[in-house]
Amino acid sequence: MTKRIKISIDKAEAAQRIKRIYPVLKEAYPNATIALKFVNPLELLIATILSAQCTDKRVNMVTKDLFKKYKSPADWIETDVEEIQNDIRSTGFYRNKAINIKGACEKIVEDFNGKVPATMEELLTLPGVGRKTANCVLGDAFGIPGITCDTHVIRLSRRLALSDNKDPVKLEFDLAEIVPKRNWTKFSHLIITHGRTFCMARKPNCPDCPIAKYCPAANKPGLW
Ligand code: SF4
Repeated sequence: MTKRIKISIDKAEAAQRIKRIYPVLKEAYPNATIALKFVNPLELLIATILSAQCTDKRVNMVTKDLFKKYKSPADWIETDVEEIQNDIRSTGFYRNKAINIKGACEKIVEDFNGKVPATMEELLTLPGVGRKTANCVLGDAFGIPGITCDTHVIRLSRRLALSDNKDPVKLEFDLAEIVPKRNWTKFSHLIITHGRTFCMARKPNCPDCPIAKYCPAANKPGLW
């Protein structure tokens, strides 16, 4: 087994590295965007809650029919939680997800006039919504910059020596210091896409990676 080497992070160097890799990734993935399918903030909120411990592909399969049945917060509120659980069962952890979705919709109606709120502070008051979900909704439904720290962003941040924090909230704050705010949402999509395309967890494809020359972990299994 390869011994994992401790990585050292220099924030100024990390910011420079981002400056270099960002345009390369943008060119490599001109269409990088969120994989979840949605047409309004409510759908994205629900899809993001469903995506916990589930693939985006599976969520999209489920929401295809789900969003025909549930179109408004009222539709979720008026449905028994057991029925919701049944409708979302294949996304896993369906019991809690159903309770959270129903609770979030109740709060949206009671406190936010039936509309998904568009601030981090307000989104965090909804059951089942943490910073990752909130950033996703802010960035992709409202166009308000947000860094989404999923498993790919955590892994690639370490390999690229941007941050060694595995805690998504601490990592988000680290990245917020070194990624220009206007790029937060796009940066997340690019890193996630790169994590799926070249920089996979088990065997990254360093030889073909377009940002290998900027990556401290390139071809160094001890840094993966
Ligand atoms: S060089 Fe390797 S470790 Fe670095 S980003 Fe590319 S695929 Fe990942």
